[in-house]
Amino acid sequence: MEYNSLKDIQIALLSGKTTTEKLVIFYLNNIESVRDLNAYIEVYQEEALSKAKELDQKIKHHPDTLGKLFGCIISVKDLIVYKNHKVNAGSGILDGFESQFSATAIEAVLKEDAIIIGRTNCDEFGMGSANTNSHFGSVKNAVDPEKISGGSSGGAAVSVQTNTCLVALGTDTGGSVRQPASMCGVYGFKPGYGMVSRYGLIAYASSFDQLGILANNVQDIDAIMSVVSVRDDFDATMYQTGLYCEQLSLENLALDTLKIAYISDAFENDALDPEIKSTSYQFLDELKSKGATVEGIHFKLLDYVVPCYYILTTAEASSNLSRYDGVKYGHRAERAGSPEEMYVNSRSEGFGKEVKKRIMLGSFVLSEAYYDAYFTKAQQVRRLIKDQMDSFFDHYDFIIMPSSPKTAWYIHEKPNDPLEIYMADIYTVLANLAGIPAISIPLGNNTDKMPFGIQVLSRVHNDRKLLNFCNQL
Ligand code: GLN
Repeated sequence: MEYNSLKDIQIALLSGKTTTEKLVIFYLNNIESVRDLNAYIEVYQEEALSKAKELDQKIKHHPDTLGKLFGCIISVKDLIVYKNHKVNAGSGILDGFESQFSATAIEAVLKEDAIIIGRTNCDEFGMGSANTNSHFGSVKNAVDPEKISGGSSGGAAVSVQTNTCLVALGTDTGGSVRQPASMCGVYGFKPGYGMVSRYGLIAYASSFDQLGILANNVQDIDAIMSVVSVRDDFDATMYQTGLYCEQLSLENLALDTLKIAYISDAFENDALDPEIKSTSYQFLDELKSKGATVEGIHFKLLDYVVPCYYILTTAEASSNLSRYDGVKYGHRAERAGSPEEMYVNSRSEGFGKEVKKRIMLGSFVLSEAYYDAYFTKAQQVRRLIKDQMDSFFDHYDFIIMPSSPKTAWYIHEKPNDPLEIYMADIYTVLANLAGIPAISIPLGNNTDKMPFGIQVLSRVHNDRKLLNFCNQL
């Protein structure tokens, strides 16, 4: 397709060069041609086509009433609810469940004339870094289908990578938008905590979860953010002020006035792939040559971010997932002599292995005997991490580090140690622990052609400034 951004599409639609229907057909054909990658769980073919036809009438007869996102074809991660549509959270436990309401973000994009083309595959309840933990099977990377797409929003990343939609909505609890974006060579943005309503996002770890956006450029992410970052009384953790649109819009930032830090411990980490490391250093050199001040900083707490993240998120998950008891939603075991047996059997049959493991870990760290040693301690460490990040941002506008220590690995590659996959989240969980905005932007490809990105982080309420900066890179 010759259109690279929403703006180009809208110009073409208004001038009559193309129609929304043609656009949707183009994407539907692409979905068909990459079916094997398993990015979509369900495609809303009829619905998307009929909405496209309606929109074409509107473009023709009432162009003045068009919403801001006309021509924007979106895929939605199977963890965000959409009224009268099925949702599984990548899990068997929600089999047959249909949502009775739409997430606030979904309502917002639909109101502005976006069209939703389908729901994308993901790790069960967002738990994973490879999209190999889905009830619907693994998602494959289009660059090399033997390799993972990244996770948990692997379907979302591949849906953008393969041009089956313009923008994908995902969720990011500890990197689930940025890490697959990096592995698939697209942009992935996680807004600061409280910037977008979580209403209608199926909860994994509520104090970490955020809606995230994957796209081919920063402008399209900005267009979506301008629409979804609206105050919502259904989410009490949303900012009351400082919403996205009140921040400076995308315009030129003078690079030579910016102070940028990079976390040297992250760059010098043994786990970091040498090719990612050298390209990332080159990127810093380029920033310097453009006049920015670039300095290395030490982040002493880096070794604690992964343990802290997994203690707190499993604790929150064990509580959030207790609602799936076979009574209220989805799957109910047939074999059940008593109510208790019904709960146990429904959960045993419905949840996958990773989810069960995390529910057990979370119940353990919350148990009376271990609460102080693990949960309370991790809360304290989280506070130290947040304070440390705040103090960095007293001196610097942005912080840079890799998005992921490695590029996509083979789907069938078994890690030597169960902690190895968790450790791969080392660069992304920081932003969720601190509640700050972060984006992964494509940086390069390894000699084996697999893409990787670089991550830029900023302080709270600086979401748009962050996008502004990345737009210029
Ligand atoms: N890989 C991380 C995890 O498994 C991140 C998941 C996410 O952001 N949803 O928890």
